[in-house]
Amino acid sequence: MPQIYSAREMLEKLVSFPTVSSESNLELVDWVEDYLASHGVKSHRVYNAEGTKANLYANVGPEVEGGVILSGHTDVVPVEGQDWDTDPFTVVEKDGKLYGRGTCDMKGFDALALAAVPLALKRGIKRPIQIALSYDEEVGCVGAPDMIDAMAEHMPRASAAVIGEPSMMKAVSGHKGAFGIRTHVHGFEVHSSLIHTGVSAVMEAAKLIDWANQMNAINAAAPVPPEAADFVPPYTTLHVGIVHGGTANNITAKDCEFGLFIRCVPGDSFDYWTKAYLDKVAEVEAGMKAIRPEAWIETRVTKGVPGLKPEKDGAAEALVRRLTGDNSTNVVSYGTEAGQYQERGHSAIICGPGDIAQAHQPNEFIEISQLEAGEQFMHRLIDYLSED
Ligand SMILES: [Zn+2]
Repeated sequence: MPQIYSAREMLEKLVSFPTVSSESNLELVDWVEDYLASHGVKSHRVYNAEGTKANLYANVGPEVEGGVILSGHTDVVPVEGQDWDTDPFTVVEKDGKLYGRGTCDMKGFDALALAAVPLALKRGIKRPIQIALSYDEEVGCVGAPDMIDAMAEHMPRASAAVIGEPSMMKAVSGHKGAFGIRTHVHGFEVHSSLIHTGVSAVMEAAKLIDWANQMNAINAAAPVPPEAADFVPPYTTLHVGIVHGGTANNITAKDCEFGLFIRCVPGDSFDYWTKAYLDKVAEVEAGMKAIRPEAWIETRVTKGVPGLKPEKDGAAEALVRRLTGDNSTNVVSYGTEAGQYQERGHSAIICGPGDIAQAHQPNEFIEISQLEAGEQFMHRLIDYLSED
């Protein structure tokens, strides 16, 4: 029997699966798969390496090009240590709001997309809706890339990707990209009175950290390229948030570790900044080795989340503006999977119900009016996909 759910009922169902990123999402995936199958829609899974989590994607409607990807993540952030008034995994209505973990970020959008499937099929859409649900978005957008690649291989190409992160149903066309580099400076311990014969890992690390300060000053003073103009601040920033190093005031530190986190405006590449930093590391390391050949610097680049670059005359943006009537220009400060779609050649935009201010909070909620705006969006999308 085909299963029919309103968007709200679907949201209640999805929230009931406690898919915190540290846990498996397979129960949710099983359920969605059954639901779609009840409508004759075949789902495809892309597992993580351990087989404990999966992305799920499905083509709804004819297998032709020119459809629209509706992308959401299935995982949610933890509730531990947060003061919730109600059970986070049960949707509770109060004052026009639906409370529950993930109601806003972003099972609300997932629910809208899934609940729209029967309607889309009934209308006989001429171009498909391609549903794309990922895992591990909240821990660095880890899951989606493999799914986007698999979709490219196995499904007809869509003309636009809508990433339904909470944006109050506004079209958001850009965000910065971000990545990190872990650095471990290995110094050489001597009594600090003999500093000329030792290498202080802390003091060498300070040179690298100060390099980040210098780059911030240079970036801040540089002319702003047009694609960065809407961001605050409109340039790439480098930040060190945590430093560990040293054991005593009178010993040149043997170890110092820190993390450098770089947020790039569109147009600035991870590769550029990685190379610039590693060049500086090589320079500092050469100075260390001149004193003690045993001293060295270890670095590890952590996988980043690519930025979303506002597209000139982008298909996804045009579509969302047409469906929502929103003509405002928006960029956001949070990272999403949208840049990963764009990086793989898709026209991508962020547009979803709810306010990002509620994401990750205790007593997370979505306003019922936002869910309704999302339903409107889905109905208009179905109209659009039903046109010749
Ligand atoms: Zn999210």
